[in-house]
Amino acid sequence: MTTPISHTGQLLSRAVTFQFALDPNAQQRILLAKCAGARRFTVNRHLARVKVNLDARSAERESLGEGGDSSEPSTPSLSWAAFSFINEFNAWKNGESEDSPVNDDGTRGLAWRHELPGDVFECASVDAARALENFSASRRGERSGTSVGFPRFQARGKVTPSFRLRNRATPGRAPSNQSIRFTDHAHLRLPRFGPVKLFGPTRKVRRMIDAGRFHVYSATLTQRAGRWTVSLTGVATELHQAERSRTSRHAVPVGVDRGIISLCVAADANGVPFESFEGVKILREAQRTLKATNQTLARTTPGSQGRQRAKSRLAKTHRKVASTRRHLVHQASRALVTRAQVLVIEDLNVAGMVRNRHLARSISDAAMGELSRQLLYKARWHGVEVRVVDRYFPSSKTCSGCGAVRNDLDLSTRTYSCGACGLVIDRDLNAAINLARWRPKAPPSSLYSLIPQGSAPRSTREEPIVTRTTITAA
Ligand SMILES: [Zn+2]
Repeated sequence: MTTPISHTGQLLSRAVTFQFALDPNAQQRILLAKCAGARRFTVNRHLARVKVNLDARSAERESLGEGGDSSEPSTPSLSWAAFSFINEFNAWKNGESEDSPVNDDGTRGLAWRHELPGDVFECASVDAARALENFSASRRGERSGTSVGFPRFQARGKVTPSFRLRNRATPGRAPSNQSIRFTDHAHLRLPRFGPVKLFGPTRKVRRMIDAGRFHVYSATLTQRAGRWTVSLTGVATELHQAERSRTSRHAVPVGVDRGIISLCVAADANGVPFESFEGVKILREAQRTLKATNQTLARTTPGSQGRQRAKSRLAKTHRKVASTRRHLVHQASRALVTRAQVLVIEDLNVAGMVRNRHLARSISDAAMGELSRQLLYKARWHGVEVRVVDRYFPSSKTCSGCGAVRNDLDLSTRTYSCGACGLVIDRDLNAAINLARWRPKAPPSSLYSLIPQGSAPRSTREEPIVTRTTITAA
């Protein structure tokens, strides 16, 4: 794939997402809900057709198997390719296929199709095809990780209302000719919606678009706890060379550990504290509000109005905690990738990680998960190396002064004191120093991305620099 070039002639090779909260008017709000419904409808229709086809074929195969004949079932298999899904659905909704719906006035096709941007149906078809592809890859054993079952049907009220619209323009087109574009500082134009008001500072992204440094591929609209947000996903230019090779960067590797009082603590391999990032206190308060809201909910009668109120309040609090955490973590990750040259973090990306009952620890666990995700993709932007240490590396239990390992350290111990050399040091700082000193035992055997699929702007060009070796538990 060639790297797209913007209308100002710049190479767009960095996957980027910008997110804004929306303030839609009453009409737009209705349209948003309709689009999310249409997406569910489309995905479900594809899944249902495939399911019927699979069931028919497997029933046939069974009856053939009894007769000792192993020939193919006579029911042809359906194509799960995205383009076949799009074509099939378009023909069906436009009244061109045999099973197209017939309306009261005698016309054929989906009556409400013209009210919505056609892209809603097409993107939903692509999503259904992708979900089925994951399922079949998993069945063939080609997919690592937990096995994927047949995609779930999208039940109303059970799935997060969401849909996607593509920008009907190639990167080389001027921004004013694009179907998804900013009309002013507070309005984003979307096909069929017109300008939708949005919150937040848009100056940076608008300037990037105008200068040809960012091109929007698609807009994903999602409703969480009553609030609609838009994520603009696209490609941007690499950061300026000066940004990527800052001479002022910290020359020694910096270890980053989850803190208990602060979100995370960073220190370098020389044992010098680098920085600690606050935020646990804010999140702990939010967690308390969450608990109180939960209790209020438990005291309400099912089906009552009070129950509804308590439910929406709980959802709002959840949303707030999540966005506060994201915000704090963005600040920390940005500070780290702009100031360090080599970062060392623990691998928290382990399926079935032990749930921690210590509240503050679980807060910073959650934040560290998000922090490593952000560090990995931002590190690539800034040309920073990230070393991921196996989680069995005893970073907390090792003395950063003499290397002795204490096995009797529990979470309540805030200070590390060494019986061998007498060092007394803050527990999190000690762990961060140990991480910073970690060296891969063997030369990096594989370079690969630890970014979870679909959750982060994914690299379009190169993988982030990640070194990893396995260390046996001490
Ligand atoms: Zn010691």
